[in-house]
Amino acid sequence: MFKRAEIIAVGSELLLGQICNTNAQFLSKQLAELGINVYYHTVVGDNPNRLASAIETARSRADLLLFTGGLGPTKDDLTKETIARVLQKNLVTDNQALSNIVDYYKKSNRPMSENNKKQAIVLEGAAILANDNGMAPGMALSDENHTFMLLPGPPKELQPMFMNYGREYLLSRLGVKEQILSKVLRFFGIGESQLETDIEDLIEQQTNPTIAPLAGDYEVTLRLTAKHHSQEEAEYLIEQTEKLILSRVGSYFYGYDDDTIFSVLFNKIQDSKFTLSCAESLTGGSFAEKMTSFEGASSVIEGGVVCYTNEIKENVLGVSRETLDQLGAVSEQCAIELADGVKKLHRTDIGISFTGVAGPGTMDGKPVGTVYIGIALPNGTTISHHLQLAGNRDAIRQRTVKYGCFLLLKELFKSS
Ligand code: ATP
Ligand code: MG
Repeated sequence: MFKRAEIIAVGSELLLGQICNTNAQFLSKQLAELGINVYYHTVVGDNPNRLASAIETARSRADLLLFTGGLGPTKDDLTKETIARVLQKNLVTDNQALSNIVDYYKKSNRPMSENNKKQAIVLEGAAILANDNGMAPGMALSDENHTFMLLPGPPKELQPMFMNYGREYLLSRLGVKEQILSKVLRFFGIGESQLETDIEDLIEQQTNPTIAPLAGDYEVTLRLTAKHHSQEEAEYLIEQTEKLILSRVGSYFYGYDDDTIFSVLFNKIQDSKFTLSCAESLTGGSFAEKMTSFEGASSVIEGGVVCYTNEIKENVLGVSRETLDQLGAVSEQCAIELADGVKKLHRTDIGISFTGVAGPGTMDGKPVGTVYIGIALPNGTTISHHLQLAGNRDAIRQRTVKYGCFLLLKELFKSS
């Protein structure tokens, strides 16, 4: 069942380049995890005849057709009407969907316009996929040879609908009794090609779980996907492979699934009951911005200094004139004095500093991308890391912040 799938995104705004077809990307990823091959992505405007012909074409070459968009109340929303016409199906009002819409308007104290009722109209005989984040329900319909699934356009409606209901529908059609479990491992500071080389044999040999790498900015993720009829077994399979992977590239590992390098660091500091302050020259406050974005930030970060000029480095944070004159602001010694200075000033357990050359010009003969990160640790030692980063001004500044988080995280794990 389901030899080939096709995703049909409906919407003129996609063709005009106003929005990107992220729904197709999302669905493709999900289908890949279910082991369903997607053969085509189609995009078609809000035009009934062209949509009808796209449906005919898709029907001739795919057995699973997923539609996104055009389920709303307005005139240009015509996905279900066109599918009904092509499949010669009736459209009927779904009473549950209608009462949800009426309730929604009652609750929000707004008058309901007549065309909103259109959203409660569904293909006769279709299974209804509830919309927990909007009004138009999704639908799924199968005959002998084809399955059609209709999903709304807005990603915040489509994604939970697919994950909570659409996926189940497909699994039941597949007759899958297996659990499909997946886990993402996150790595920092290692390129995709290096990581892949280090675990190439594992990627090639592994079939359950499968290992799928994905590259990001200075980050790589590995998605492990295991199938088994027992949840515990699937978990065990993933655990074993995870151990194997981490025995090779564990020094670059920082977290799982939706973790970010920032959230992992924040939680680690919070759990350790340490306090933090920062001295930011190169990064101009970006590190503080990240650390203050979490709830409960005041228990973790006390404050920071944007020490862009040498005067601030010297007068506020106590970097010695000698260091600035002889070694320069972009130096290991300056990074150390900044970290010590800010830690002392704020009376925190940890001080972190960022200094470097973001470019485009060189500074004191130091090339663009020269970065020093100072870390004053709770045990009284202060260390400094020298990095040579690639990229433009923005990229260097952002990567510096991420590196700082990663390096500090590693230090905290070392000492705990
Ligand atoms: P609504 O009830 O909001 O009208 P709909 O199901 O009719 O939903 P559309 O009108 O086609 O969907 O699109 C609504 C919005 O959803 C678009 O303006 C866009 O922001 C988003 N959207 C639609 N299609 C896609 C897509 N393929 N990828 C990402 N976003 C999309
Ligand atoms: Mg619409």
